[in-house]
Amino acid sequence: MPGWKELLGGKGANLAQMARLGMLIPPGFTISTEVCTYFYQHNQKYPKELNFQIKSAIAMVEKSRKSKFGDVKNPLLLSVRSGARVSMPGMMDTVLNLGMNDEITKELAKTNSRFAWNSYWRFIFMFADVVMEAEKAELDKILNLIKKENGLIQDLELSAEDWKETTRRLKIKVKELTGREVPQNPWDQLLEAVGAVFKSWNTQRAITYRRLNKIPESWGTAVNVQSMAFGNLNDDSASGVGFTRNPSTGENKLFGEFLQKAQGEDVVAGIRTPNPISELKERFPKCFKELLLISKKLESYFKDMQDIEFTIENGKLWMLQTRTGKRTVQAAVKMALDMEREKLISKDEAVLRISPNSIESFFRPSFGTKVKKEVLAKGLATSPGAAVGEVVFDPKEAEKLVEEDIKVILVRDETSPDDIHGMAVSEGILTARGGMTSHAALVARGMGKPCIVGCEAMKVDYKKEQFSVGGKIVKKGDKISIDGTNGNVIFGEVPTVLPEASGDLEKILKWADEARTLKVYANADTPLQAEQARKFGAEGIGLCRTEHMFFEKDRIEIFQQMILGKDKSERERSLEKIIVLQKGDFTEIFEAMRGLPVIIRLLDPPLHEFLPKKDTDIKRISQKLSISFEELKVRIEGLRELNPMLGHRGCRLGITFPEIYQAQVRAIAEALCDVSQKSRIKLFPKIMIPLVMEVEEFKIIRDLIDEVFSEVRKNRKIKINYKIGTMIELPRAAIVAGEIAKEAEFFSFGTNDLTQTTLGISRDDAGRFLPLYLEKKIFKDDPFVSIDEKGVGELIKIGKERGRAKRKDLEVGICGEHGGDPSSIEFCSKVGLNYVSCSPFRVPVARLAAGQAVLKGKK
Ligand code: PEP
Ligand code: MG
Repeated sequence: MPGWKELLGGKGANLAQMARLGMLIPPGFTISTEVCTYFYQHNQKYPKELNFQIKSAIAMVEKSRKSKFGDVKNPLLLSVRSGARVSMPGMMDTVLNLGMNDEITKELAKTNSRFAWNSYWRFIFMFADVVMEAEKAELDKILNLIKKENGLIQDLELSAEDWKETTRRLKIKVKELTGREVPQNPWDQLLEAVGAVFKSWNTQRAITYRRLNKIPESWGTAVNVQSMAFGNLNDDSASGVGFTRNPSTGENKLFGEFLQKAQGEDVVAGIRTPNPISELKERFPKCFKELLLISKKLESYFKDMQDIEFTIENGKLWMLQTRTGKRTVQAAVKMALDMEREKLISKDEAVLRISPNSIESFFRPSFGTKVKKEVLAKGLATSPGAAVGEVVFDPKEAEKLVEEDIKVILVRDETSPDDIHGMAVSEGILTARGGMTSHAALVARGMGKPCIVGCEAMKVDYKKEQFSVGGKIVKKGDKISIDGTNGNVIFGEVPTVLPEASGDLEKILKWADEARTLKVYANADTPLQAEQARKFGAEGIGLCRTEHMFFEKDRIEIFQQMILGKDKSERERSLEKIIVLQKGDFTEIFEAMRGLPVIIRLLDPPLHEFLPKKDTDIKRISQKLSISFEELKVRIEGLRELNPMLGHRGCRLGITFPEIYQAQVRAIAEALCDVSQKSRIKLFPKIMIPLVMEVEEFKIIRDLIDEVFSEVRKNRKIKINYKIGTMIELPRAAIVAGEIAKEAEFFSFGTNDLTQTTLGISRDDAGRFLPLYLEKKIFKDDPFVSIDEKGVGELIKIGKERGRAKRKDLEVGICGEHGGDPSSIEFCSKVGLNYVSCSPFRVPVARLAAGQAVLKGKK
């Protein structure tokens, strides 16, 4: 229902919806997000009328459950849960069994002693943890000690007496830790618990989750107060969680787990390893059948896969929650296609269902089948893909190591929301405990990271910073490989291989292609990248950075010799070698692209990136140039610039040293002649001039290009066509775009440089202060990742409009890193550009985002 989610939170709205669909849910009520907002605006105070409203709502619940809140003989017990507008799994806190106290427990114990003490223990534990903020690890110690003293492993093995004793000791511990006792009065418990849910909106882990998922702080959370349904009542009771389809593979089959005689928290916390939901069929056949029906009903209402929670109390099935389920990208694609086939959703909706950023991980590497692997152990494969890294146990340390460019695998007993920051930076996650729906599994799946949970053979020792498995010790810093597709934990570093494009994804991408108006080109500098880009569906090369062709070790020296040449003749000597190499590369690139457009940018080398730094390198080059070490050092010094990004770069270099561009253009023209002669492929080469700020620069270089082409044409007697365009990378270029467009045949916005020059922040140095800018919300997003629409975006609009005013059919695109960023792509689509160009691996991302941009507009 419109507006419900905003007011009642996701959980509250969906509970209300389930009730409307006729499903059995424990009676209760929702305190709206407006109260949370009020609470924060009024110094953490409730609105005056809240007390009265809660009392009358409780009276209604009492009536329908035929029990009374606080009554000793027939008590109404409650769950108090948070529920924000979007699901934040495990982020917010819950208190169960609220309403219990010493007296009520003693009375309950007369009929079901184990249940009474187990439930009371849980209430005290959760209340102390969530409401009174007692340290959880300290509270945990009590139960662990009791188990140790009695030689018990599983919670199920504890008797009524054991739970009674655990509760007694827990109460003492709570007093010790917090200086007070858990309130005995149920009404006090309720009001305090509601406040704690509101406060949990602002815990560090909730803040981190919001930041990672771009959830506004202003939304606040609702509080759901419901009567309890007890999964731990007796053997005819159970708690479970499930998905209406398999969240890992997408298979259309109810998937999940349950625990007999347990409360929901036990299933998700991974304390005991739960049973697969298929076993429910034997143990609770009626409930299983009912659950299948409910899951179909939910899907046909919500038109999406649902993540559900349920409790069986004394053989009766209660639905506790439903929400749209998180899934792997593989599952998302399969589900979208299946649901379209089932006519649950339209084709457009299927395209919109897939998050563009997530499909990059679709092409995630896997371990080759032929390599020998030392498999240490096997766990539950919960999020596919292969990950390799150094073992680290502490999430904070994971962050530190990653900052030093070390790849890590986070290994934990189990994860909790406090570990999110460490999970976010790790290559993969491995836990000893937990099931398919444990916190680690859910979060890793959402993040698209390889993850294995429930690897029970593994014994983690945080103190010694090691884990042991079958007699083998693996220490912090050792390399391991984990396979999130089959659950294998492997010692050492296993080489990975890249997957082939998937047929299912390709189908979605084809639908996106049908919708999109933007063309998708790739930034490719080598024949291999060109080949890759075409495989991923690139319609051409939007940027071939010719200086990148020299990044390989044996080539960089020739390039260095060229830029360090004393005069034209020295430079020309190196240039001859360069022409041979470039001609070879261009030939292969033209062949790989089989007639698709190829935009080649003439050299734009920020010189500092190429100058030799180490003495040994300087010595070697000095020998090659037959000059002394000292003289070469002087030349390097002479080339050093205070501000290289604004220095002797781009077309400035072509104007001062025309022989460099002449040589490059010759290589392009010769390659064109060779390929056209050999293969009869119709070629569409375009030559792009970098960093132009003034049309006169453009004219000079354009004439130079035309001269070389006509010379080659004359010599080879072949007709070759080409276009000459420019990059727009400077604010001035965007402003004088009209003048430039009179001469240039196409524009490509270099949004990397345009961002640095518009904002006046260096793309190399901004890392020092950008994180703080993001934290302080000065910038909503990193402007080098997503186009700064207000500033850079405006210049793009101006440049495009002024350019097209002078040349109606001017082709305009972007080729900075933003070309692979979904929100920037949406912007380019809206503004009416012709294409985006991005790295080969992001081509599928861009195809999907460009399709979605149009479909969103249609919606
Ligand atoms: C740009 O500036 O956006 C661009 C594509 O060029 P480069 O990153 O090579 O400077
Ligand atoms: Mg640039």
